[in-house]
Amino acid sequence: MGQVIGITGGIASGKTTVGELIRAAGFLVIDADQVAQELIASPSIVHELAERFGSRILNRDGSLNRAQLSQIVFGHASKLQILNELTQPVIRQQLLAQMDAARAGESKVFFEIPLLFEQHYERLVDQIVVVSVPEQQQLTRLMQRNGFTKAQARVRINSQLPIAQKCQRADFVLDNTQGPHELAQQVQALLTQI
Ligand code: ATP
Repeated sequence: MGQVIGITGGIASGKTTVGELIRAAGFLVIDADQVAQELIASPSIVHELAERFGSRILNRDGSLNRAQLSQIVFGHASKLQILNELTQPVIRQQLLAQMDAARAGESKVFFEIPLLFEQHYERLVDQIVVVSVPEQQQLTRLMQRNGFTKAQARVRINSQLPIAQKCQRADFVLDNTQGPHELAQQVQALLTQI
């Protein structure tokens, strides 16, 4: 019987890096963000978004203008809520279908879900892996990767549940404090244990 394993952690804690290592070991890793991006661009959702936010979120060819949509919702809690209410159920439905398919299969399938705890996927997966780094290091990596100021990085980190709390609720914790080599060793150990 197949098994569904959720990978999560804080922003810039190393989830994508872990996902790539697991993929390289031959497992299927589904990226919830990518699923979401694809669904949001589907014609029926784009149509609904245009009804709510106006045709300014459309490109000339009728496709979604993501930059424009981001600009509208960023920093506007109520608009962000509308966007989430429109999109989250569809994304959830799609991920649940993929989880069912994974369980009906034979092997382990990993789902990288950045907001696994915040969006209540905890009980929908069989095991949870949290990628952890101390907050100071998370801040530095986020500033470096995205070119954010300290304040911009803080806002994003503070909008999530603290990593320490995620670790308490994990079945496995990968400590990404050291370099890529040490992380790869931990992923290898995880794959033999899980
Ligand atoms: P997001 O939540 O934004 O999707 P993420 O959790 O997927 O981020 P990554 O993109 O994997 O995080 O890593 C964040 C940044 O830190 C990247 O620039 C990555 O190259 C770097 N990084 C990841 N692991 C390490 C490490 N062990 N040593 C040094 N840098 C690292």
